[in-house]
Amino acid sequence: MPGYELFGAEERKEVNDVLETGILMRYGFDGARNGIWKAKELEQEICKTFNVGHAQLVSSGTAALTTAMAALGIGAGDEVIMPTFTFVASFEAVLSVGAIPVMTDVDETLTLNPAAVEAAITPRTKAVMPVHMCGSMSQMDELKAICDKHNLILLEDACQAIGASYKGKAVGTIGHAGTFSFDFVKIITCAEGGAVITNDAEVYKKCDEYSDHGHDHLGKDRGADLHPYLGYNYRISELHAAVGLAQIRKLGGFLKQQLHNHDIIYNALKGIDGITFRVIPDPAGDTGSFLSFFLPTEDIARKAASELAAAGLGGNFYWYDNNWHYIRKWQHLQSGSWMHRLHDDQKKQVMHYTNLAFPVSDAIMGRCISSSISLLWTEEQAQERGNKIAEVLKKVIAESTVNA
Ligand SMILES: *Cc1c(COP(=O)(O)O)cnc(C)c1O
Repeated sequence: MPGYELFGAEERKEVNDVLETGILMRYGFDGARNGIWKAKELEQEICKTFNVGHAQLVSSGTAALTTAMAALGIGAGDEVIMPTFTFVASFEAVLSVGAIPVMTDVDETLTLNPAAVEAAITPRTKAVMPVHMCGSMSQMDELKAICDKHNLILLEDACQAIGASYKGKAVGTIGHAGTFSFDFVKIITCAEGGAVITNDAEVYKKCDEYSDHGHDHLGKDRGADLHPYLGYNYRISELHAAVGLAQIRKLGGFLKQQLHNHDIIYNALKGIDGITFRVIPDPAGDTGSFLSFFLPTEDIARKAASELAAAGLGGNFYWYDNNWHYIRKWQHLQSGSWMHRLHDDQKKQVMHYTNLAFPVSDAIMGRCISSSISLLWTEEQAQERGNKIAEVLKKVIAESTVNA
């Protein structure tokens, strides 16, 4: 899955370009930087690669979501419909602009269930935030139709799915804006970084300002910039952008290798009785970073996950018991443990939606295992791993039918 597995000479070269000049900041110092503008270059590369009008780099995927929401005008009291299965960062970002995360069921795509989204809409709903989890995509036609019908903002969290597409369009480019993360374990990495992408020039301009204390970046003299809006510091550094530039150029190769290895594992598991696979809305647009599948029951899935680990087969994730990705274990949010005081109204709403019961999501996530795909496996290693996973799954399923 992750680009860190193939860090090499290309990344070192780009970083060295920056080290040669010593200008580690993305703005200003026009003379001293000797024509080296890694962040700008990476933004252009993102636009070209994903066929999108504008890209704003920031310091993380979380910052990208916060920046995008601010630029889209999502704020105090607005409800943002998001899935129960995500990374906690999506939730944090909604809170950071004063909005209310409305946790909503997923289906067997492991992403937002469109019918559940429609049912979650209230007069306060401002946006729908699909999260393209584990390298695959949400049902974008259905979600877009709902947003169009109810006049809602569609913000795509594509932090885990850079390079995925839906009906020929890169994920992140279908809604009003989308976000990428380049943290260390994402499909491509720059250590820490993120991006907002959008085709809306006004939204882009606001992202550019918001992520740098509101600077309008219109003149050559940073000190003389005007500040039309309040902003914060979510800037990326030139060193990080340099790594990202090398990685994005390798993305096509990564995806090819990943999909190849993914197919080997899939072929090893596809004949097993009792296993079904994650529904992928557009299989041609998958990144192959995970192979996600369902076992017949929660008990069997939990047992399978522990037996896979015991057999030395790491990288098989049972999200249902995971502390970061599924709402069931977000104890800090369920108990309302904030270091700073939230506005009373916001806290009441947040706690309400966070502590709803999610039996539909539970029934799906409780049976799911996601098997991560490495870029480094040889053909033989991938084959051997697939066979071993298949053996464990068959054994656990057979034992469960004997016991039943
Ligand atoms: C990683 C991730 C983020 C946040 O990205 P960071 O760069 O780690 O801040 C947001 N959403 C999802 C779905 C992610 O997986």
